[in-house]
Amino acid sequence: MFKTRPASSLLSSTRLALSAPRSSITAPASRACSSSSRNTTSRPHPHAPPPQPRSYSSWPRKMPDQDISMYLRQSHDHVFESNRSWAAEQKSKDPDFFKKLSEGQNPEYLWIGCSDSRIPAEQITGLEPGDAFVHRNIANLVCNTDLNAMSVIEYAVQHLQVKHIVVCGHYGCGGVKAAMTAKDLGILNPWLRNIRDVYRLHEKELDAIKSEEERYDRLVELNVIEQCRNVIKTAPVQQSYAKNKFPIVHGWVFGFKDGLLKDLEINFEGVLADIQKIYNLTDK
Ligand SMILES: [Zn+2]
Repeated sequence: MFKTRPASSLLSSTRLALSAPRSSITAPASRACSSSSRNTTSRPHPHAPPPQPRSYSSWPRKMPDQDISMYLRQSHDHVFESNRSWAAEQKSKDPDFFKKLSEGQNPEYLWIGCSDSRIPAEQITGLEPGDAFVHRNIANLVCNTDLNAMSVIEYAVQHLQVKHIVVCGHYGCGGVKAAMTAKDLGILNPWLRNIRDVYRLHEKELDAIKSEEERYDRLVELNVIEQCRNVIKTAPVQQSYAKNKFPIVHGWVFGFKDGLLKDLEINFEGVLADIQKIYNLTDK
């Protein structure tokens, strides 16, 4: 099993792992407070110098209240500035872009990924709006009692008729690390216990790996494989495949070191046949 860390280091590392990289916090504050057309009397003079960029170590407790206010306003406004730029760019490339989007969606992929902010499905794959129906949660889990995930799968398969379902995990997953730490994490306990169950299923293999980092990496892969099995256990996937020969289920893992996806090469038909010995939900 994994080492138990002291409670204090666990809490901070778990928060860190589940949150955005802190370097991004300085970005909006370093931009001049430009551009917002909204009129609020509480704002500083438009030519007032922007607050000094803050380092992670000064956030948030050591930052003066007025700087926090300004930071929050700027980081909020930045999203709308970016949105206007993006919309203008799309329209300049294709004047009918939004007309086509408004006509409906016909995505090829259902993407089930981790909520981690560093792995945006479309950006790392080059997919465009309309290409992927996306569902994300902590540690890319597919639980049969999760109405959200089950609804997403049913809608994607039966109504959108996606051709591929991808479960994408990532090395260095904070959810997987938190799950393997001896600590009461409150409401996260039942969610993360699914990962402990993956460990239990593959205990021999994982215990034989000496390096802790390599053991975590392998647990990330095994978690993806088990979640693929959970997708294949669902009625919509089994019934659609029996009728249409799609969707196919894939297990991928994203690596931060090189930004590349690793295909775990799930043998979909083999796994389906194996699963249907017990979990068959078709009439055949
Ligand atoms: Zn993750």
